[in-house]
Amino acid sequence: MKTLAQIAAQLQGYDPQALSADAVGEFLSHLVVPVRETESVGVFEALGRVLANDLVSPISVPPHDNSAMDGYAFDGAQLRTDRPLVLEAVGTALAGKAWQGTAAAGQCVKIMTGAIMPAGLDTVIPQEFATVDGTRITIPANVVQPGDNRRHKGEDLHEGRPALLQGERLGPAACGLVASLGLAQVEVRRRLKVAYFSTGDEILSLGEPPREGAVYDSNRYTVHAMLTRLGCEVVDMGVVRDEPALLEAAFAEAARKADAIITSGGVSVGEADYTKAMMKKLGDVAFWRIAMRPGRPMAVGRIGESVLFGLPGNPVAVMVTFLAFVRPALLKMMGARVTATPYLRALSGEAMRKKPGRTEYQRGIVTREADGSLRVRTTGNQGSGVLSSMVQANGLIVLHHAQGNVAPGDAVDVMMFEGPL
Ligand code: AMP
Ligand code: MG
Repeated sequence: MKTLAQIAAQLQGYDPQALSADAVGEFLSHLVVPVRETESVGVFEALGRVLANDLVSPISVPPHDNSAMDGYAFDGAQLRTDRPLVLEAVGTALAGKAWQGTAAAGQCVKIMTGAIMPAGLDTVIPQEFATVDGTRITIPANVVQPGDNRRHKGEDLHEGRPALLQGERLGPAACGLVASLGLAQVEVRRRLKVAYFSTGDEILSLGEPPREGAVYDSNRYTVHAMLTRLGCEVVDMGVVRDEPALLEAAFAEAARKADAIITSGGVSVGEADYTKAMMKKLGDVAFWRIAMRPGRPMAVGRIGESVLFGLPGNPVAVMVTFLAFVRPALLKMMGARVTATPYLRALSGEAMRKKPGRTEYQRGIVTREADGSLRVRTTGNQGSGVLSSMVQANGLIVLHHAQGNVAPGDAVDVMMFEGPL
């Protein structure tokens, strides 16, 4: 594992007082390493887990050539373009119950979807296109081509070839794919353990009565929810008051228990508290000012073996810095293949003021218009404490570092919050 100084020395123009969002991502990708331990889990438990090794198909799927339709199987070489083909049905092939005979020229076999193609037959006429008169089947000219409506052995997955690559985060389709190979268990990386706590003397825990100048802790709940979505094991450490002994104990416990520690609050410039001092005392920690909005201050480093993400306190800044930086870093720690988050391009419904030289994340509402185009407008108040803006939004409009003002109708990038799968 590299020290922060070693990573910083590798990066061009590293300036902790003015880091671009891209530079933060790059720094973090050097800071974190994937967990090594693996475990075997059942397919029903595999959702969201990260595949530890390439999964080589033990079988071909489908295991045989089979019919894609209910209809009649025959040898397509007999088809003519100038006249119908008349065949005699001599048997039935059912899914799971193959027809064992041999069809001669002029013969066909009634076949159901998924049934093994009888030997020598390569084409299926769907039953709705055939004219049936007893066992006499008439296939009109030019309705099917030789080879139509037959699924080939191994067309989905081929025996001996990798069906899934290590680093795959298993989604619903991948879970089904694992099962389609006949595998009941799958080897995945162990879950990443992430401890988190909120700091600040003004932060109330649920159950405490309101008091003047104090706000209820929301960050622990958004962080908990985002970590849960990612598939991490969470260690909730509550709100830690601004006292050196309490902070020291909390950091020590978090470092002992977890692969990563997420805190919120107490990292702003000129913050009159002990959080930053304690991070510095206990670990190898850098304090950054990031050229972004919201979410300028952030502390990053290591305490013991754990990676520390010291996020700002403002509730929107917590979510934005988590999505922009912490999430990709945690995915790498989970052993997942990390690809750049795909953005959607939408046309801005309004003008947006934007200064080049920092990345801005605006809360956006994307809609699909009647003409099929994607439009995005911002939610109202974009203040970094306005958590309701994140609830109204369905994505973050990402105004990139070099970008300037946006005019109505300009295309902008949006990081969507949720997909259907
Ligand atoms: P800080 O970064 O500690 O200066 O906090 C910035 C702002 O975020 C202040 O208004 C805090 O009250 C608020 N804040 C800090 N932590 C939390 C939290 N856990 N939940 C809600 N608001 C918070
Ligand atoms: Mg504070």
